[in-house]
Amino acid sequence: MAITKTHIENNLQRIRERIAASCKKAGRPTKEVTLVAVTKSVEIDTIRHLLDLGLTELGESRALQFAQRVGEIDAYIQRRRNPLPSPVRWHMIGHLQRNKVKPIIETAGLIHSLDSLRLGEEINARAERLGIVSDVLLQVNCSKEPQKFGCAVGAALHLCEMLMTMKNLRLSGLMTMAPLSENPEDARPSFVRLRELFDEIRREGIGGAHFRHLSMGMSNDYPIAVEEGATLVRIGTALFE
Ligand SMILES: *Cc1c(COP(=O)(O)O)cnc(C)c1O
Repeated sequence: MAITKTHIENNLQRIRERIAASCKKAGRPTKEVTLVAVTKSVEIDTIRHLLDLGLTELGESRALQFAQRVGEIDAYIQRRRNPLPSPVRWHMIGHLQRNKVKPIIETAGLIHSLDSLRLGEEINARAERLGIVSDVLLQVNCSKEPQKFGCAVGAALHLCEMLMTMKNLRLSGLMTMAPLSENPEDARPSFVRLRELFDEIRREGIGGAHFRHLSMGMSNDYPIAVEEGATLVRIGTALFE
């Protein structure tokens, strides 16, 4: 069944209320938190509804679908009568293989899933060839689950140091995925760990001026992530269910 705009609008209102409540609890301004609408499991028509509702930060998790959607939505925006409140920014949030960097690098506004030196080198080299600077986050495996992507907590600081030397990367912060669980509170330790790591990297003077984002929190646990300092929450299911 197609997802209506009203349905998304109601979900969006509830999500914004919960983000605001978490911000209040943590003493943070709500404008510090950006909602990335994860569109990986919806159809193009639904993405158009998001644009109508003013949501222009969009996330995809697979490189080929990412590239395809960027093309389709670009074509739609060209045809569209009403201007968007701001240009669409595409977030690459899923695991990225080195041989899939090419199709996404020019259009990715932010890559959340840089998780190794080799991937960093690949993105840097491709960005250099295109004469661009790529915005990236280092993905960290805070929950230590072996099946999870992300660098080890203990390797993050040194990896950040190396990434900072790459001229065509702009290291803008850290990202993590909490363990899947029924209970959102189970996610809190991973978020706390990411924030502590973030603070440590800043204290060491490694991050630089652009190092300011914490991408953490999904449909099940975003209120907790916001309490713990998230600046980017990646939400799919809660917008569309
Ligand atoms: C799918 C996905 C999300 C969104 O998950 P929901 O539970 O649907 O909100 C967030 N981050 C990543 C990396 C994802 O792959």
